[in-house]
Amino acid sequence: GPFIFEQIIHFADSLAKRSIKPEDTVIDATMGNGYDTVKLAQWVGPNGLVHAFDIQPQALQRTQERLQEHNLLERCKLHLRGHQFMADTVNDEVSVVLFNLGYLPGQDKLITTEVDTTLLAIEQALTLLKESGVLIIVVYPGHEQGRVEQDALNHWIKQVDTRRYRSLRYQFENTAAPAPYVLAVEKLKTS
Ligand code: SAM
Repeated sequence: GPFIFEQIIHFADSLAKRSIKPEDTVIDATMGNGYDTVKLAQWVGPNGLVHAFDIQPQALQRTQERLQEHNLLERCKLHLRGHQFMADTVNDEVSVVLFNLGYLPGQDKLITTEVDTTLLAIEQALTLLKESGVLIIVVYPGHEQGRVEQDALNHWIKQVDTRRYRSLRYQFENTAAPAPYVLAVEKLKTS
């Protein structure tokens, strides 16, 4: 790319890619139009598994079509269910849980991730992570609900248990408007 600093989405992608080994199980917590689901499915390989969640039937429909185009559907399970139920839905340990917060571009902006369910889901994500697994959250502060979510997440990310996890933020600072950013948590090895 033309810049030295990695763009926000690219940073999130490379964190995910680096954390995934072939045959892993991973979670796309916000499938939306399915772009992330496709990438995750490619990285887990033919014997891996992606659990993807969304509450909008259109999201499932679009993601299913996109996966079919790429011949990746059979390594994915699409759940029409909120990500705050991921612990009831997924039984395996996972190497990555990815959240792309906010609303689905081109759809109803009122159907957005919300702070209470997001906080429930990210706590469950930490328990599902295997050692060296990574939780990745892309935060969009540029809309009303996004600002509320941002405040809660900025607080949450600082108080993650230091004995078991490391957490970080990646954000461009000298922008005209609040810029999207990445929060990430790595589960430490216990040995
Ligand atoms: N990753 C997607 C992609 O590649 O196109 C974009 C995701 S979009 C920014 C956020 C999505 O989160 C929306 O599709 C919305 O319906 C979904 N969402 C909102 N609340 C949710 C919840 N409780 N559980 C799961 N998905 C939710």
